[in-house]
Amino acid sequence: MTALELLGLISAVLLVQIVAAITYVVLRSKPAPPEAVPVRAAPNAAWQGLRAFRVRMREDEDDALTQTSFYLEPVDGQPLPPYRGGQFLTFQFDLPNAAGSVRPVMRCYSLSDRPDRQAYRITVKRIPSPSDKPDLPPGLVSNYLHEHVKPGTILQVRAPGGAFVLADDACIPTVLIAGGIGITPLFAMARAALAVQPDRAFHLFYGVRDSLDLVFEANLLALAEQHPNFHLTIVESAPLPAEAEADRFHETGFVDTALLRRVLPHGQHHFYVCGPPPMMASLVPALRDWGIAQDAVHYEAFGPASIESAEDIEAIPLNTPLAVQFAQAKRTLDWTGADTNLLDFAERSGVAVPSGCRSGSCGTCETAIVSGTVRYAQPPSFDVAEGRCLPCVALPTSDLVLAA
Ligand SMILES: Cc1cc2nc3c(=O)[nH]c(=O)nc-3n(C[C@H](O)[C@H](O)[C@H](O)COP(=O)(O)OP(=O)(O)OC[C@H]3O[C@@H](n4cnc5c(N)ncnc54)[C@H](O)[C@@H]3O)c2cc1C
Repeated sequence: MTALELLGLISAVLLVQIVAAITYVVLRSKPAPPEAVPVRAAPNAAWQGLRAFRVRMREDEDDALTQTSFYLEPVDGQPLPPYRGGQFLTFQFDLPNAAGSVRPVMRCYSLSDRPDRQAYRITVKRIPSPSDKPDLPPGLVSNYLHEHVKPGTILQVRAPGGAFVLADDACIPTVLIAGGIGITPLFAMARAALAVQPDRAFHLFYGVRDSLDLVFEANLLALAEQHPNFHLTIVESAPLPAEAEADRFHETGFVDTALLRRVLPHGQHHFYVCGPPPMMASLVPALRDWGIAQDAVHYEAFGPASIESAEDIEAIPLNTPLAVQFAQAKRTLDWTGADTNLLDFAERSGVAVPSGCRSGSCGTCETAIVSGTVRYAQPPSFDVAEGRCLPCVALPTSDLVLAA
């Protein structure tokens, strides 16, 4: 090798080292991407993990302009797998927190129309601060969607899931009871079923405050027009003064068993209920008190809702506390029965557990049970793996060690 060749070789090696050093420094100084929420994919999910969707369009659905539909197309352009009416999507939003860094926030939204191979639709109600606590911030994600998500925005979405779907038995008439934005899964159920079973019998009771809150009104009226066995009862709790003449509702008050007894024909029915916590907490037990078999009452809560089942599911004060250990957090706490679930219990005690829906639907809080046993106040719609639990709806029934 000549001196010139040797010099060339040394220069090349030096250049490679300099490039490697610069690359290392640049990569080190880049802000870390938001930590992904480690969620086990639901068994039989149509795709694993998150899939990117682009918002194709958005559409206001109600006269009050608080409920908006978002149409989502997959960025990869592949056809969408079908889903069953009543199922929901789980979204991961990477939102800035108070400290200025980005954190993943999970939320579920029901698919609000019958399946389509090109686009999914969700319909989101903007959640304000609680009326009795106006100082609290308004709903984080619903307001983010309403204010910032426009055509072209990319959203990260997990595959459709959920067990709040119609029973296959079309011979038994179906009663759908929606409160407010709880109409979304029920509308999707009816639209999907009537597309293939146009004569299937449905009674939809749709409770809203006034006609400003009605969504899908034209579609619902069209369903009633096209399908003689689709019966629509719009129930307004506080109709606007001008509404009586406009004839946009059928009943005044709330959907309760007195109304159901009056309107429904005699015979067997399957009930599907989705609405705000007060509706769920009163109507679901009332249906059972009316004598409806437990397996004929199906419901989904859009968040924490306390629904008494036939068994006593209320938190039970204990004479001797149970020891609940959060292994990763290295904390052991006394469960006295004062909390309604292990997630509230953990958070109240300063133990951070990743969470999303707080209703047993999304699986974000799923954690391994190292030892001990739990029970569920409401059966979770997420398919919990053997040896794991969902703290957002689980209660301990023995001393417990959780991996979280
Ligand atoms: C299976 C499923 C399907 C769903 N489908 C739909 C759907 O189709 N459409 C739809 O609109 N929603 C749906 N939801 C509900 C949705 O997932 C969200 O829960 C909803 O949008 C509210 O989320 P948010 O982030 O806006 O509100 P959050 O930030 O979770 O706040 C909720 C409420 O808590 C208040 N709050 C804020 N901070 C505090 C505090 N420190 N203490 C007490 N209260 C506080 C807020 O002001 C607000 O009123 C569904 C939920 C589930 C589980």
